[in-house]
Amino acid sequence: MTAITEYLAEQKRLAGAATEGPWAFAAAPAEGSDETAAEYLEGALTGDGPLFVVWVPETQGDPGGYRLTAATGDGPHASMDAEFIAAARESVPRMVAALEAVTALHQPVEIEPSDTICRECSFQLPNGRYFGMLTEWPCPTIHAVEAALGGEGGGE
Ligand SMILES: [Zn+2]
Repeated sequence: MTAITEYLAEQKRLAGAATEGPWAFAAAPAEGSDETAAEYLEGALTGDGPLFVVWVPETQGDPGGYRLTAATGDGPHASMDAEFIAAARESVPRMVAALEAVTALHQPVEIEPSDTICRECSFQLPNGRYFGMLTEWPCPTIHAVEAALGGEGGGE
């Protein structure tokens, strides 16, 4: 397996082990409630295991800091949900950068008389003119990226 394949397999494992989505977030306890945050959290626990949390070990500018970023409870998927959330902080920016790198390569180019082709997927002569293999825009790479982002369970 390539490094890319291994990285993506690990991200799929993390997502697959976590509670199925979509997920949502909210302020708790609800506005107007007389419950404290600690009481809310205690009421949300099942009592079946330890509380799993996501935290920042070295808070920026506060070396001794302990910033709780998420609490996933103590249910059957709580540890996997916490692992997934913690990994997302690094993996989401990395995967966005990977998609940006791909889409920066595959850009539309207008050519005479009135075609739009993919710069990366079409053959360009040293003089800058496109010749021979011309790939219509959007190319199969951009189609695949758009399908993955807008397909099952992703995008809008
Ligand atoms: Zn292309």
